[in-house]
Amino acid sequence: MPSHRHQAPNLKSMLKQIQTAVGHSCEWIGLRYTSDDTRTIVAKNGKYDYSGEMLLAGIMVEVMFDGQIAYSATADLSSAGILRATESAIKWAKLAAPFRIFNFTVEQRPKAVGHYISPHLKGLDKLSYKEILDTLIQTSERLKCADEIIYSHAYSQLAQRQMHFVSTNGSDFQTEILIGMTDLQATAMRAGESQTRTHIDGLKQQGLESMEREKFLHIAERVSCEALELLSAPNCPSDTRDLLIMPDQTVLQLHESIGHPLELDRILGDERNYAGHSHVKLSDFGKLQYGSKLLNVTYGPTHPNALASFQFDDGGAEATKEYLIKDGLLVRAIGGAESQARAKVPGVACFRSSLWNRAPIDRMGNINLEAGDSSLAEMVKATQKGIIMRTNRSWSIDDYRRKFQFGCEYAQLIEDGRITTTVKNPNYRGISVPFWNSLKMVGNQSTVEALGTFGCGKGEPNQGIYVGHVVPACLLENVEVFGGGK
Ligand SMILES: [Zn+2]
Repeated sequence: MPSHRHQAPNLKSMLKQIQTAVGHSCEWIGLRYTSDDTRTIVAKNGKYDYSGEMLLAGIMVEVMFDGQIAYSATADLSSAGILRATESAIKWAKLAAPFRIFNFTVEQRPKAVGHYISPHLKGLDKLSYKEILDTLIQTSERLKCADEIIYSHAYSQLAQRQMHFVSTNGSDFQTEILIGMTDLQATAMRAGESQTRTHIDGLKQQGLESMEREKFLHIAERVSCEALELLSAPNCPSDTRDLLIMPDQTVLQLHESIGHPLELDRILGDERNYAGHSHVKLSDFGKLQYGSKLLNVTYGPTHPNALASFQFDDGGAEATKEYLIKDGLLVRAIGGAESQARAKVPGVACFRSSLWNRAPIDRMGNINLEAGDSSLAEMVKATQKGIIMRTNRSWSIDDYRRKFQFGCEYAQLIEDGRITTTVKNPNYRGISVPFWNSLKMVGNQSTVEALGTFGCGKGEPNQGIYVGHVVPACLLENVEVFGGGK
């Protein structure tokens, strides 16, 4: 598969030209060139289904005029095109300045110099398109191992991002990221009832080393066997019991009931019209016991291979690991330099834009739940009446990220310290803060997986962005579980 690296324009020389043209009418100017190259290859039911490549590239011009920040983006990479975008941004800043909600300074755009290249072993040129497609076709064929498997797919997405940022206060940093992900799925059907099992392999910063045919074939066997097993399984009981969530469910539980409510722009009300608000108040930082003493949640932008690792955020702040929740206590928000200045609470370097034509806003980056010291076997053994749930299949949470309900694909009952019956259609519900305060045991490093999501949505206009979560298995006490739903 050829590697389509794009020659970024000479931003430093463009910035000089702009400064000459617009003089020193602005306190600050920044130019960010971004190119996103995404390739998708899909095999369904043992056959080729789809392949495509999307390239999105352009420059975002940011200006600060009279304490007001404004933006204008352009896909016209000529000097005249960039100058037009700069003049447009200045015009918007002048119009908005009398109505500004905060007087920003260059402190919110610190000088950043560096070059981040994501870790990978095999670049995109190490496998041919045919080799990748053959692997996916064989995998989807293996997934469709019985007549009762009515649907299977092996879906691969490879994304390459290049970014270069320069500014009038000396910033000059570049980011090169490779992301690989393969999604394997089988749906089984009998007597009008269907059951689906899914496995997402990877979803992290990596190259084509993730494309291992033998590994995929092995996973495919398990996935299709579990889909068939669910057809004969009893429904999940409806009662209260201990809940052991595996990493591919912990991810979404963390994302929705901790990640989003801790976003500072939500707490400030910026997202109220679209993505929603938060149950967290500014006065809760340093005071709210968000979870039990076992709950440690970090912002982890330096975690190797995690999906959203980088050196600097899109505002130029240096990305460092920070505790958001320490021993259950809420200590820090998911908010970049602008929101921190407005809210006067500590935040993190999480100011990110999803594409060349989107302004950076507060985003999750990597939000990780730190491993504990219990093995999976110890957590099962310690449970008298419980249930293990794997792989999210549905979710619902209110606007304030308080009350939630999640459904999973696959569950197993735990009785007297042993795994017993597989059950179908498992669901559970709870309220964010009491739920995390019922955290009883946290899985050790052997249970940890690096996962995430490609499409966390927020912002107007919408920004779908990749977010990483490195998480262990978690055991929660006395959770309301229920069956039903197809
Ligand atoms: Zn999200």
